[in-house]
Amino acid sequence: MLLKTDAVVLKQKKFGERDAVITLFSKKLGKIQGVAKGFKRIKGKYSVGTQPFCYGEFVLFKGKDLYQVSQVDLKQSFYKLREDVIKLTYASYILELTESIITEGQTNNRLFDLLVEYLHIFSNMNKEYETLTKAYELKLLMYSGYKPEINRCVSCGSTGNEEIKFSAREGGLLCRNCLGIDPYSMKISSVTINVMKYLMHTDLTQISKLKIKPNVLKELEKIVKHYIQTHIDKNQFKSLQFLEAIK
Ligand SMILES: [Zn+2]
Repeated sequence: MLLKTDAVVLKQKKFGERDAVITLFSKKLGKIQGVAKGFKRIKGKYSVGTQPFCYGEFVLFKGKDLYQVSQVDLKQSFYKLREDVIKLTYASYILELTESIITEGQTNNRLFDLLVEYLHIFSNMNKEYETLTKAYELKLLMYSGYKPEINRCVSCGSTGNEEIKFSAREGGLLCRNCLGIDPYSMKISSVTINVMKYLMHTDLTQISKLKIKPNVLKELEKIVKHYIQTHIDKNQFKSLQFLEAIK
């Protein structure tokens, strides 16, 4: 069976001497793995198209267990991501994060389009990496069924604005009356709440022009990181650890 689909390469792993197994986020089938046979020998578009970040139209042949990549029509390689190690690490983290949330056989078109858009904008940026990345993380959570509740108290639904904290475990804001249900809830300022709303509901092109104050960004980072650790079944992202080590 032949399958033609747009996809982004999330991972490439050597398989034997000449082959590679690639993990794809495909538009038609969600996460899939495919064998790229003799990927090193074949010059041109095909060998380039199987590297991480590459976005293209893939023709896959369904074998007994795995898909075989028979053709790649490369649309973008986002080569500029490789110009700078920090930039590359951020983008690698985004691939890792995306891979951990998508599943086999399940499509997520909104997230797919968001990933391509992120890679496109991010590869052309030269500062404010953190802000666009936070926006991607928040949108990814929204599009995957993990949207944090930041409009009202996640426990009682009240919209009163006093003494609010953020509970990763409960999935959003807690009001003064409900604070006690999660002793690990975190401080969150009203500015940070508004920035979160903006990042969730504004498109990435607009966000790429935004500059967030360092103290707000720091609070936001802490909250989003804790939220992702609580809700996504993966504790440590290799690229994130590396990023924290070199920052
Ligand atoms: Zn409450």
